[in-house]
Amino acid sequence: MKLVILGSIGLDDVKTPFGKKKGVLGGSAVYASYAASFFVHRPSIGLVSIAGTDFPKEHSNLLKNRGINLDGVQRKGKTFRWQGLYEFDMNEAKTLKTELNSLADLNPILPKDYQNAEYIFLANVDPDCQLKVLSHVKKPKLVIADTMNYWISSKKESLIKLIKKVNILLLNEGEARQLYQTSNLIKAGRLALQMGPELVIIKKGEHGALLFSSHSFFSAPSYPLEELVDPTGAGDSFGAGLIGYLVKTDDLSESNIRKGIIYGSVMASFCTEGFSLDRFKEIDIDQIEERYQIFRKIREF
Ligand code: AMP
Repeated sequence: MKLVILGSIGLDDVKTPFGKKKGVLGGSAVYASYAASFFVHRPSIGLVSIAGTDFPKEHSNLLKNRGINLDGVQRKGKTFRWQGLYEFDMNEAKTLKTELNSLADLNPILPKDYQNAEYIFLANVDPDCQLKVLSHVKKPKLVIADTMNYWISSKKESLIKLIKKVNILLLNEGEARQLYQTSNLIKAGRLALQMGPELVIIKKGEHGALLFSSHSFFSAPSYPLEELVDPTGAGDSFGAGLIGYLVKTDDLSESNIRKGIIYGSVMASFCTEGFSLDRFKEIDIDQIEERYQIFRKIREF
């Protein structure tokens, strides 16, 4: 495996000002692996997660048909469920209900051919599981980790342990403020860097993303979307676009990472144009490249 992705597999109930859906395919690992599959050729993505025995076969087949390997997905009990609500400020989800179900029993075990993976994306899941996966991979070139307010509140110590060990930390703006107890994102970025990662990215939803390193700063624009339907999964798709592009190019220079951030923003923008994976199912790499070029123009001055 070239890329290993850890995260949740779930069924989401989502309500936005533009509609509502019940029991649709979701989970951080699902969004991330599907988004990464546009960049990483099969069969090089290995998923580590857990789903219930009630998880519909059509959903597993959808991922398998994208060349995503599910040998690292355990099956037990009931599938994780999340209920989220977005109001007109679509930047932040309000979690109405989290039923961890089988996700509470996730004890990730990496199949042998996942252990040599060079690229690891630790999407949003219990930080103890993120640490465990990290301890099982032999010599990764790049580890990117994401998290969420739920884990910042319930597992802060483990999260801080994890942050020390990753190359790139992803946070959205609300999480950055919560974790570093400041309203100032520049300060939050600097504080995050002091914890150990080489790079910190703060995602600002429809307002782009900020990249911090010890010696530089980059501000990425966002795509001027008019058809924003459901932001669920945008953060995972952003991280997956970034790591997917880095796997494809195998170039970890800062200028290439900046390009990866733009690919991440492209994937996030497509993700929000529909519920669940609906929009991803309609697009191809040419549309991704087209939107990447639009981003280039947005930045020119
Ligand atoms: P995002 O919008 O990219 O932050 O992620 C949305 C996905 O995260 C949804 O599809 C949910 O199923 C999943 N999710 C919500 N809460 C949690 C949690 N506490 N742990 C893991 N995944 C979660």
